[in-house]
Amino acid sequence: MSPLTGKGNVVSDAEDLARLGAQLYQRGLVSSTGGNASVRRSSTVLITPTGRSLADLSPEELVEVDSRGDATGSGRPSKEVPFHLGIYRARPEVNCVIHGHSPYAVAASTLLSPHPVNAFPVYTAGYLARVGRLPLIPYFSSGSAELAAAVSEVATGDTKAILLQNHGFITVGDTIESAFNTADELLDALTVYVITEGRAKPLYEADAWPKQKEIEVSA
Ligand SMILES: [Zn+2]
Repeated sequence: MSPLTGKGNVVSDAEDLARLGAQLYQRGLVSSTGGNASVRRSSTVLITPTGRSLADLSPEELVEVDSRGDATGSGRPSKEVPFHLGIYRARPEVNCVIHGHSPYAVAASTLLSPHPVNAFPVYTAGYLARVGRLPLIPYFSSGSAELAAAVSEVATGDTKAILLQNHGFITVGDTIESAFNTADELLDALTVYVITEGRAKPLYEADAWPKQKEIEVSA
């Protein structure tokens, strides 16, 4: 099993992750006991626990897991540990992973077709800068090895966000703030798509993505 050691010198503490949980809840990016978030430590990952709302977690409730996904202390980690670890292994620069079941993300995921590179049109320059492209993977059961494998396949390169059909979204960042801002921007774009029933006029259609890389963006 490859180690989890990343590139970064960003070490987030439990207070930072607990605060992120509250922010995600307040923004409507997670609800009930759904969704989870994690940060990379030097050779382990700190992740939110299973079966608890992210709204009011105490730092002591967060669970540290090793490279196999086993808790190093007390507490039971989110069942989505496998895809969190897969992303950290694939992306040494990533230090935070967020996953939520926002209704706009679920709604948009059911209206769009899976695509490994980009499934979503671009409506604003801010989205292009912050999120860029959005792979969409088909439905797999929560916590399954199949879901983790599908996520790892598209979480490569410059991927900052992934949509999971009939499930939700994932965002990643080199810092907690970056992963949160990407989720925040993504939710706005998915909301535009859903409230206009996909009829909003985009700046770029989803299949125009390869050309977008050549476009200068200031946002
Ligand atoms: Zn989920």
